Amino acid sequence: MSRPVPAVFGSVFHAEMPVIAFQNGAWQPVEWQSSQDLTLAPGAHALHYGSECFEGLKAFRQADGKIVMFRPTANIARMQQSADILHLPKPEAEAFLDALIELVKRAADEIPDAPAALYLRPTLIGTDPIIGKAGAPSDTALLYILASPVGDYFKVGSPVKILVETENIRCAPHMGRVKCGGNYASAMPWVLKAKAEYGASQVLFCPNGDVQETGASNFILINGNELITKPLTDEFLHGVTRDSVLTVAKDLGYKVTERNFTVSELKAAIENGAEAVLTGTAAVISPVTSFIFEGQEVEVKSQERGNALRKAITDIQFGLAEDKYGWLVEVC
Ligand SMILES: *Cc1c(COP(=O)(O)O)cnc(C)c1O
Repeated sequence: MSRPVPAVFGSVFHAEMPVIAFQNGAWQPVEWQSSQDLTLAPGAHALHYGSECFEGLKAFRQADGKIVMFRPTANIARMQQSADILHLPKPEAEAFLDALIELVKRAADEIPDAPAALYLRPTLIGTDPIIGKAGAPSDTALLYILASPVGDYFKVGSPVKILVETENIRCAPHMGRVKCGGNYASAMPWVLKAKAEYGASQVLFCPNGDVQETGASNFILINGNELITKPLTDEFLHGVTRDSVLTVAKDLGYKVTERNFTVSELKAAIENGAEAVLTGTAAVISPVTSFIFEGQEVEVKSQERGNALRKAITDIQFGLAEDKYGWLVEVC
């Protein structure tokens, strides 16, 4: 049976979604609702004061027909951390995982074959209908999960041109670890400017020359046999893919170094033949094809190691390589 892959990423949703409400100081039992609309008070806290965070993870149909999710407990832990920093009620891990599993089971027939997948988008919003709470957290919240069949986000051979930005920051430094819409709104002017002025696909944020991440993905420099990436700080999002790539790379014999590095070090390495990749759930790994440093484009000569690392991860996801780290959760 062939299942359709929607042309636009994230534009088609499974008909229903699990919704878990936080009311009267407690998480309530899950309810299943239509994913077509959501009833909210126009004064809802999330709509006015940004009490919103989200997650992104995937479920896959493997060659033998089994359906698996990739590292859902890492995403649950990260949403708990985002909730903590945003002063939203912290989702309960067990009910959250149960809702994910049930959703993937219900949507199983809609999951396209490899290399496509089912993208899952848990969303947590503050719902107090009180616009006077500008400086106070929401006492009520909703956690709901969208499921969206998606094609392969990654297109072999398509250019990944990165604008290196040293003046503007992606988001307020203390918010970097939070996966929230507010940070995307904050990065939007620089992302649009990079597209319009340079045809760049992403902006690499490097405040004062410190290489951090792009608007939606982490950044790893592959210099010969060494992977170099920024150590985990509050300023950027701690990606599950970043962690997976570093783990797999170590096993493949790479040296993995988590340390700060500068734009001038990056530029010198690229000019000397180093590779660089972006990591994130949607595309897994996107090898960079060129950088723009102060208006000057520098080609990245090779994407070979990045592509091999990408395959090492997707082989685990699609059941073509052993899941030796216990990353897969079997759904059905
Ligand atoms: C989601 C996200 C990433 C990638 O995280 P993964 O867990 O690998 O998908 C990186 N940076 C930002 C800003 C993000 O929002």
